[in-house]
Amino acid sequence: MSKISIIVPCYNEEAALPYFFSEIRKAADGMSAAYDLCFEFIFIDDGSKDGTLKLLREVAAEDRRTRYISFSRNFGKEAAMYAGFQHAEGDCAVLMDADLQHPPSMLEEMYLAITEEGCDIAAARRVSRKGEPPVRSFFARCFYRLINKISRAEFVDGASDFRMLSRRAVDALLSVGEYNRFSKGIFGWVGFQTKWIPYENVERVAGESNWSFWKLFLYSLDGIIAFSTAPLAIASVVGVLFCLAAFVWIIVITVKTVVWGDPVAGFPTLACLLLLIGGSIQLSLGVIGQYLAKTYLETKRRPVYIIAETDRERDARAV
Ligand code: UDP
Ligand code: MG
Repeated sequence: MSKISIIVPCYNEEAALPYFFSEIRKAADGMSAAYDLCFEFIFIDDGSKDGTLKLLREVAAEDRRTRYISFSRNFGKEAAMYAGFQHAEGDCAVLMDADLQHPPSMLEEMYLAITEEGCDIAAARRVSRKGEPPVRSFFARCFYRLINKISRAEFVDGASDFRMLSRRAVDALLSVGEYNRFSKGIFGWVGFQTKWIPYENVERVAGESNWSFWKLFLYSLDGIIAFSTAPLAIASVVGVLFCLAAFVWIIVITVKTVVWGDPVAGFPTLACLLLLIGGSIQLSLGVIGQYLAKTYLETKRRPVYIIAETDRERDARAV
């Protein structure tokens, strides 16, 4: 009998979880009856401040398929996903949000894509950005166009984190042990045959999204820095262009002064040039600083997350 691990990162999902439990159980029971399958549900409580952990404890106590891992603080969804994959014991693992934005009805198609069509990854892809603010859609599109130009990993516009992975794809994912995790890139980087299953965007069932525009913007910068070194190259190219321009200008000024005896152009030109060159030097330094900062964090080799409590540990204590 093969086992499917469902990994669910939860941050303040007290309101949405009851709906999620009932939907996922329905889907899992249906699939268990149709195929030779069993399920495990791994909930990762990412340092929630509401009653999420309490709810998970209760559900785990009554349902043997449910497990939970609770972090010592909020480490972010990336860390929660990584913990989920590390603890998944199934032959396939699925990543799902707790807010039912990822319809459990798609699980069957994903499972068939892996078992019958020979894919290693079956992932949901949003076909439209309906319901999203236009500014956010615009910037999202720009981001995908840019990152695909400057990175070797493939980034698919609309690709969600909702995906099922075969055991070998999970192992490949886990072999990428970096601290600054940008999953959208890591999924593309590990490769494997991927089936994209289209779906319409669904509103979250309860609670609020944790993403503001600013957070998304910073996240996209993280992605660029994690999967491309092009900004560093651009910094040097800009430097070379400035040197060339300066060289030509020196010749022009020298010739003008010697041949025509023109007075040298005055203060405004100098001020503008100083600002321009100073600004570009600052910018390049900033870019280098970003990469240095990431390298610094990576070399510290800090753990990606810290566990405060799991269901297994609690069971052991209760014995
Ligand atoms: N999440 C998490 N840690 C965080 C933020 C979010 O584990 O720091 C979880 C959240 O509980 C949800 C999923 O990640 O299950 C997606 O979050 P959200 O719905 O806020 O993002 P969106 O769907 O708007 O992209
Ligand atoms: Mg959501």
